[in-house]
Amino acid sequence: MTTMTMTKLAAAIALTSTVAFFGIPSTNANAAAPMAKISSPGFYRIMLGDFEVTALSDGTADLPMDKLLQQAPAKTNAALAHAFLTSPTETSVNAYLINTGKKLILIDVGAGALFGPTLGKLLANLKSSGYEASDIDEIYLTHMHPDHVGGLMQDGHLAFPNATVRADQRESAYWLSKTNQERAPDGIKGFFPGVSASLQPYIDAHHYVPFSSDGVLTTGISSYSTYGHTEGHTSYVVENKGQKLIVMGDLIHVPAVQLDHPDVTIAFDTDPKAATKAREKVFNLAAHEGDLIAVSHIQSPGLGHVHTVGQTYQWIPVNYTQPR
Ligand SMILES: [Zn+2]
Repeated sequence: MTTMTMTKLAAAIALTSTVAFFGIPSTNANAAAPMAKISSPGFYRIMLGDFEVTALSDGTADLPMDKLLQQAPAKTNAALAHAFLTSPTETSVNAYLINTGKKLILIDVGAGALFGPTLGKLLANLKSSGYEASDIDEIYLTHMHPDHVGGLMQDGHLAFPNATVRADQRESAYWLSKTNQERAPDGIKGFFPGVSASLQPYIDAHHYVPFSSDGVLTTGISSYSTYGHTEGHTSYVVENKGQKLIVMGDLIHVPAVQLDHPDVTIAFDTDPKAATKAREKVFNLAAHEGDLIAVSHIQSPGLGHVHTVGQTYQWIPVNYTQPR
C-alpha cells in the first residue's frame, strides 16, 4: 500500500466516524422516500409505411366487468382471475393519431371531463407526443359513447379549434334524438346530454361533416361500418405502402373474456347480435390478412395482431419499437 492510498484510507475512516457521530445518514440507509406516483407519458408511436401512428392514452377507468358482460358473473370472474385480473377491472381508453404526412387525423378523443379524473388525459399526452390540439385537421369518431367523444370540448371551448369532425351520420342522428333518449335503457339514457354537449358546438361551428357510406375520407384512411355496439359504430382502415391498420373502436372490451368467447356481449351494445357479428368479421379479417389492429379498450397502447385458434382468438401485442 502506498503512502497516498494510506492517507486516503485514513481520511475515509475519519469521515465515516464523523458521519456516525453526527448521525448523518449514509447513502445506503433505508430512507423513506415518498412514492413518485407518476408514470411515463401515455403515448406510443409506430410507423405504418410512411404514416406515423401514435397511440394516445386517455387514462383508465375501473369498470364492473362481472356485471357489464352478458354472462354469469362467476364465469367472468373466473376468466379475469385466469388473466390475473379482478372486477372492477382497470380498463384503458385509447385514441389514435395518424400523421399521413399531409394531414393530422385523430381517431376518437377520449372522455374529456365526462368520466371522472382517471380519464381526460388525452390532451396532455397529445402535447407530450409532440403535437398541439390546434394542429389536428380532422377527427374521426368510431362512435359517440362519452369515453370517445367527451374530449371534443375543454372548459366550454372546442378542444380542437381547427378540426373537422367526421362520423357515420346514423351515429349522430341516434344520439341527437330526444325520442331515442326517452326510449333508451337506463344505462344508456345518461349518455345523451354529454354527447350533445360535446358534438353540438362543432355542428354549430360548421365543423361536423357526417358520412353515410363506407369510403375514403382522406388519402390512406377509409371508413368501414361495423354497426352493432352502437347504431353507427365505425372502424377505420389505415393503409400505406402495403401496410394496413384497422382501428376498430369498441368491437371488444374485455380481452380476458371475449377472445376465448367472442359471443359474450356487453351491456352497452345497442344490438348485441350485430356487435358479435362485427367483432368476428373484423377479427377474422385481421387474422386472415395479418393486419395490425388498434383497440380502444385493450390495455394501452392497444396495438397488436390476432390469430384465430378454432372459434377463439389469440392477441399478440405489438413489438416494442423506437423511432430510428
Ligand atoms: Zn368505449
